[in-house]
Amino acid sequence: MKHEEIQASISARLDGEAPLLADDIVAAHLTACPECRDFFQRATALQGALKQPSPTPDLTAQILAQAGPAWRRGPGTRLVIAALARIGLLVHAIFFIIWGVQLLIGSQPDAAVRIAVACALVYGAWRPAILAGLLPFLGSWAMFSTGLEMRNIFLGQANIAALVFLFSSAICAGLAWWFRDYRQDSSWLNANLATT
Ligand SMILES: [Zn+2]
Repeated sequence: MKHEEIQASISARLDGEAPLLADDIVAAHLTACPECRDFFQRATALQGALKQPSPTPDLTAQILAQAGPAWRRGPGTRLVIAALARIGLLVHAIFFIIWGVQLLIGSQPDAAVRIAVACALVYGAWRPAILAGLLPFLGSWAMFSTGLEMRNIFLGQANIAALVFLFSSAICAGLAWWFRDYRQDSSWLNANLATT
């Protein structure tokens, strides 16, 4: 039995894909192989860490730290997408605040909306599950802005950067929400380990 096959099966199982080997074969190998057991524990710990992040001020550093091992591990693509989407939300939030403050200086009422969206995106980066509530808002705002900008596009006065920004915000929110719960239940292996 090759260690690579066992570890690929563990990764596939955790990613919700069909594993190469049956669970009982993997579990039997894990009881005898410290190397693969260590791999399994690191893989599940990594998923658990991202599933339930604790609130800290430096959210970006925390997300990056969690994503780091996944880059090297290879199969954790969903983990990486989820982390990048959440970092994307934070970056968009910063630009929304800058945008809002610029409008505020010009005493434009739209400033409040930008700053409110920035707060929602930061909260969404922390707890992606709440983004479901934000998606209709961001999505319809982007859609209606596009409609309103159509006339300006013909006149050559469209704020293309703002439109692209709205859409990329919506895409980040969508990805972060979609991959919020990518983690498969890994109790199957723990249960197998306990009984063998
Ligand atoms: Zn092994």
